[in-house]
Amino acid sequence: NQFTQFNLKPEIITALDEMHFTKPTAVQRRVIPAINAGKSVIGQSQTGSGKTHAFLLPLLNKLVPEKDEVQIVITAPSRELAYQIYTAAELITKHMNGDIRIGRYVGGTDKQRQIEKLQQHQPQIVIGTPGRILDLITSKALKIYTAKTLVIDEADMTLDMGFLKPVDNIASRLPEDLQMMVFSATIPDKLQPFLQKYMHNPVIEEV
Ligand code: AMP
Repeated sequence: NQFTQFNLKPEIITALDEMHFTKPTAVQRRVIPAINAGKSVIGQSQTGSGKTHAFLLPLLNKLVPEKDEVQIVITAPSRELAYQIYTAAELITKHMNGDIRIGRYVGGTDKQRQIEKLQQHQPQIVIGTPGRILDLITSKALKIYTAKTLVIDEADMTLDMGFLKPVDNIASRLPEDLQMMVFSATIPDKLQPFLQKYMHNPVIEEV
């Protein structure tokens, strides 16, 4: 399996084998090493390029299952996309030891139940739409300040849907030395101030 070149945990390679993923796509070949090196990345790539696994594989590989706190936050502009990312994350972590908790938070779902669950346990990975994630933060249920990684998937769509404000609010609660990943088919000018505010020396990959 060619994914072994990225120093991924054997449990992740097993999961990839089961999914019949044997060869990384172009975006994965370029983005995985950059994320492994701790860099912030702007990935200009289309849906279908394999971008989801380009960020999930190195980030889930770095996850510390013993740590009972939020480590990774991923925002998506639609419920469908959030669910797709969630499903991919579940499959990748299937064989990992320990209790891997992935929370998905999208609009139109039972917020009170999510709050009650969060009072018991924080997830290690947060995946959702910006409005609901922010809602759970301001309700003092979700505590994301421990996360050192933020992924904004489909940033252009996020901007078009008017979600840049909640995303900015989420980013502002994370540490200064944040590793941020932004994926977008296009990089509109309106996105630039946000990128400059949070990304320091990002690697830009166009594939
Ligand atoms: P994405 O661009 O992330 O929406 O991925 C497009 C599709 O390609 C999804 O169905 C993925 O499960 C699949 N995929 C991603 N990476 C690979 C790979 N290296 N080999 C085979 N399929 C892949």
